[in-house]
Amino acid sequence: MTTLLGCIADDFTGATDLAGLLARSGFPVSLRIGVPDAVPSATSPFEVIALKSRTAPVAQAVTETRAALAWLKAAGATRFFWKYCSTFDSTPDGNIGPVAEALMAELGTDQTVYCPAFPENGRTIFMGTLFVGQEPLHESPMKDHPLTPMRDSNLMRLLSPQVQRPVGLIDRLCVARGPVAIRAALADHHSKGHAHIVVDAVAAEDIEAIAAACRDMPLLTGGSALAMPLPALYQADGWIAADATNATRPDVAAETIILSGSCSAMTNRQVASYLATGAPALRLDPLRLAEGGTAPALDWLATQDMARAPLIYATAEPASVKTAQARLGVAAAGEIVETTLAACARAARDAGVGRFIVAGGETSGAVTQALGVDRLDIGPEIAPGVPWTFCRSQGRHIALTLKSGNFGQPDFFSQARQSLENP
Ligand code: ADP
Repeated sequence: MTTLLGCIADDFTGATDLAGLLARSGFPVSLRIGVPDAVPSATSPFEVIALKSRTAPVAQAVTETRAALAWLKAAGATRFFWKYCSTFDSTPDGNIGPVAEALMAELGTDQTVYCPAFPENGRTIFMGTLFVGQEPLHESPMKDHPLTPMRDSNLMRLLSPQVQRPVGLIDRLCVARGPVAIRAALADHHSKGHAHIVVDAVAAEDIEAIAAACRDMPLLTGGSALAMPLPALYQADGWIAADATNATRPDVAAETIILSGSCSAMTNRQVASYLATGAPALRLDPLRLAEGGTAPALDWLATQDMARAPLIYATAEPASVKTAQARLGVAAAGEIVETTLAACARAARDAGVGRFIVAGGETSGAVTQALGVDRLDIGPEIAPGVPWTFCRSQGRHIALTLKSGNFGQPDFFSQARQSLENP
């Protein structure tokens, strides 16, 4: 099917979040990990390309984004969405502004909007100031982010040094008056030469109004929430037929494996909750892995009944993680765990496993790479921001869910299993 909306996300979990929200519409959504090598074929009406460009050098981020745009154009897309974090994660150099400007130049458009708001998740914008819950961005934990510390909350001030052309604001007072008023404000800014328009949003209705007003613009930029209303709007415009929703779900083998490399507080609870069900489980200790390699884990896996969905986990409490990191180094401790979980994923696939539940952002990267997966078709949502996805590994259909850090409820692993049983 021809692609209608081409989305480019600056990181992998952001791309999954966006793809999951678009898929709530019921229309087919595909997620690509990196820009595909091959020319587009069998594309979905909504395509999302996940880049890893959030903190890359500006020139590299721009080059990768241009390549993604070219692929999406070849897939047929005529409207585009540049997705970044709802906390506007960026540095004074970029990459949000420079990438937006490069996309605008490629698309021959001289205006776009910036709306990272996600009111459902407590990210709101008022008078151009971004709030995280009740705190302005620069007072939220984002002020201490190791890579993109956010020390200002005013989006115009954050964006201006990143772009060449003038920045403007459409404030909540205008947004509250609805799509017609928003369009008039955009035209007014346009007449003044304002290219980059920050748009306030404090509630889901604001996002709906902005999406309705801006749905014909060649380029929209923002958080995942702004994209969510687009499929329904395209349907209302007759741009996509209602029956385009009937994406067939591939049959996947029922055998399941759970691989957990996340050490977040929520993943620790999820592992504990799954262990309490009495399911078979193997704990990986990075220190033992450093001595004994992956063979013991693979040997254990080979003896398991995959119908019982065994869990292999390195998930540990902070003190234990610190001990391993002190002995092995942070990078080496992480790598040894990722390599082992990736090897287990491959062995499980070769043993006929059809369903993979993976916890951890970096861990997900290692597992998808090991399985040779570069396209994920978005399936049913298990928890907000965490869908099942369907893909092929060595020619076979498999189901994969990739849960980052703190997502999901404590019983996520069991919930994930059930949600595929009972669509
Ligand atoms: P999250 O989404 O929670 O950030 P990630 O998979 O992105 O999870 O990151 C967790 C990192 O910690 C991975 O690199 C993983 O290999 C590493 N890791 C997992 N378990 C341990 C452990 N017990 N000790 C040290 N590092 C670990």
